[in-house]
Amino acid sequence: MIYVDETEPDGELEPPFEPRNVAVKKGQDIKKEYTLHEELGRGKFGTVYKCKEKLTGRCLAAKFVITNRAEDRKDVEREVEIMRTLQHPRLLQLYDAFDDGKKEMCLILELIEGGELFERVIDDDFILTEKACSIFTRQICEGVEYMHGQNILHLDMKPENILCVTRTGNRIKLIDFGLARKYDPTKKLQVLFGTPEFVAPEVVNFEMVTYKTDMWSVGVVCYVLLSGLSPFMGDSDLETMANVTKAVYDFDDESFEKISAEAKDFISKLLIKDGDQRMSAQDCLDHPWLRKDKMRKDTQLDKTRLKRFVIRRRWQKAVNAFLALKRMGATINL
Ligand code: ATP
Repeated sequence: MIYVDETEPDGELEPPFEPRNVAVKKGQDIKKEYTLHEELGRGKFGTVYKCKEKLTGRCLAAKFVITNRAEDRKDVEREVEIMRTLQHPRLLQLYDAFDDGKKEMCLILELIEGGELFERVIDDDFILTEKACSIFTRQICEGVEYMHGQNILHLDMKPENILCVTRTGNRIKLIDFGLARKYDPTKKLQVLFGTPEFVAPEVVNFEMVTYKTDMWSVGVVCYVLLSGLSPFMGDSDLETMANVTKAVYDFDDESFEKISAEAKDFISKLLIKDGDQRMSAQDCLDHPWLRKDKMRKDTQLDKTRLKRFVIRRRWQKAVNAFLALKRMGATINL
């Protein structure tokens, strides 16, 4: 049985490798420097494989993104640029980058072997407690706080983008900076993407996004982790988006019976329609539910609903990956 406790293993803050000033290598063959191994995961944009650097024997991850259109290449270049500035133990680190100059780019990333957080916590041998949830949420907020300190918005905070460093430890890292944006508070930034269940009302309404846009998503992730319920989920994306814009949710379900008032207070200070009123990442770290010096409830949580949630997301992910493949196939005439 695996219980999560707060003792951090030695080397917790050590980076996986020395920070690297990555520049995209154009027209170079990745296979000359790296050997590719099994697939680790797939998203809307990329397919990720385990790989090994020939020179050092270091194990890493290679994320391949099809870049048929000039915009696709620009997007990956932006992802590289953003990752170069993000050097923090709670954030996935960039090691190398390639552009074949034709249809594909590849990011070489730190390898994270513990799998997705939500997949791990639904394992039968993992004891999910409220305390474990607060330990994970604290680390998410540490990562987000650092990003915001660098003026970067993640804009795609969702369970699939939170990975466990190992199969047995309690450390997590945020991944996927494909939708991240540099934020200039003096300029208006609007975005038209994200996952309906997790995006903030201002994204659905195509209004200005800010640091607080990520904080809404942190609130949704935390709500799901504690209860297995998705607070704004409707029968269709349209219905979900309508629910998000109303920002109406509750803690009435029996899953919340055992959850502490502090945890509910934490979530209710994030799921607020008016972004200005939401807690910042720093406010979250100072909230009693996340503070390290506070005693937290070790109540074991029922994972039945969370398992259902993860299975539904797995399906959704498979459908998205299929649609993405179909789209690419259509463009390159496969
Ligand atoms: P999305 O559809 O969420 O935008 P994407 O196409 O941008 O996804 P990623 O989220 O970066 O792709 O990666 C897809 C999946 O691959 C992740 O959900 C994760 O399971 C796995 N993965 C990504 N990076 C790593 C890594 N560095 N180490 C191990 N597994 C990884």
